[in-house]
Amino acid sequence: MRALSLLKRYMSNVPWPIWQKGYRWSSSVQKLESNKTLLKHLAYKINATGPISVAEYMREALTNPVSGYYTRNDMLGPDGDFITSPEISQIFGELLGVWCVSEWMAAGKPSVLHLVELGPGRGSLAGDILRVFTQLKSVLGEAEVSLHLVEVSPKLSQVQAERLTRDQQQEFDAKEELVYRSGTTHTGVPVCWYRRIEDVPKGFSIFLAHEFFDALPIYKFQKTEKGWREVLVDVDAESPDKLRFVLSPSPTLASATFVQLDEKRQHVEVCPEGGVTIQNLANRIAEDGGAALIADYGHDGIKTDTFRGYKGHQLHNVLEAPGLADLTADVDFGYLRKMAGGQVTCLGPITQQSFLKNMGIDTRMQVLLRSCHDKDTQAQLIHSYDFLTNPKKMGHRFQFFSVLGRGRLAQSKGRQKTGTPPPVAGFTELDQQ
Ligand code: SAH
Repeated sequence: MRALSLLKRYMSNVPWPIWQKGYRWSSSVQKLESNKTLLKHLAYKINATGPISVAEYMREALTNPVSGYYTRNDMLGPDGDFITSPEISQIFGELLGVWCVSEWMAAGKPSVLHLVELGPGRGSLAGDILRVFTQLKSVLGEAEVSLHLVEVSPKLSQVQAERLTRDQQQEFDAKEELVYRSGTTHTGVPVCWYRRIEDVPKGFSIFLAHEFFDALPIYKFQKTEKGWREVLVDVDAESPDKLRFVLSPSPTLASATFVQLDEKRQHVEVCPEGGVTIQNLANRIAEDGGAALIADYGHDGIKTDTFRGYKGHQLHNVLEAPGLADLTADVDFGYLRKMAGGQVTCLGPITQQSFLKNMGIDTRMQVLLRSCHDKDTQAQLIHSYDFLTNPKKMGHRFQFFSVLGRGRLAQSKGRQKTGTPPPVAGFTELDQQ
């Protein structure tokens, strides 16, 4: 059974209404009082030891254990700083759930299925996927399903636990514990929280990363007449409570190590942490089986300066108010493909519009609209669909990229000889799957 049959089964099983009227936005965002702690800490550090890398600046601003943006904030929603696809519509998570089951089936239905999500935000995507798993219980049979969440933010892990596990959860204090929180969903699926992907137990896994890689720290480099120079963050000599970008006068270890010899661009951003993470996923997929689906703002090794900040749904100066704004950089999928190496095969990037259409979003929409008689809810459905797929909105801004075991495509190559295209759901047109 392929993704299309899975989707049909899902659509015919899910009772109406499961739709939560309106966006799943809530106003639980903590409005942070303007706080200069992080700025002072960074200025102190720079004055003591010199300008810091953009990567160090970004890491401190986003994940500093005390004042980092992600550490203390629930930033998703209308009162927050940005909105993501899983928060816009449950259809998004449902289609990704079908993708997970489809890849699990393509692997020969292993007896264990780890669903691993990196950076789960408010837990909406994982929740929607687990609902698909429940609906497709007859397909999943006796498979032992567990959920593993890699989350650096104590605040968001609490939001996720409330959403996914209700009150059956435990928190562990010890910093050295690999699992810092655990619980069970109301359908009996065990859930564990980790700070790092390295700590997640091995086994057949489907990895998901939605708007995760764009939050990992990047280094920035500028080509000059004297060669590549690293862009650094310094205190502004004229206004000591402000930061500014400077160019390193001579090569740094990072500029000597991270810029590719054949680089053609004049300015590049490199995310080594993203490279290490994809290598980790690739090793696990090669050794234990599984697949990864990564969705993010991105490009295929062509863009230059994409580092930007968001605050209150508006663009925000990246060097202003560190810790109070989201910082992000487009994901370089060309770099991820290179770092994943030859032991796996990568598909994409393809646009979110293509991926969702290939996964059957149009069919799902028709079913939902037909079974819904409330005009407001119908309008809401159409609005969400447009937001997710319109090329001017999220449809082209977001890209989907997949990492698969080499065996997965070798099978497909065999089939290609007989005229059947690779049946990886989402990356092939639905009627050809
Ligand atoms: N996937 C969610 C949330 C995206 S925001 C959605 O699309 O709605 C980025 C998420 O990644 C947050 O949950 C944030 O806390 C987490 N995160 C950021 N940097 C991280 C890191 N280095 N390690 C683990 N989680 C991280």
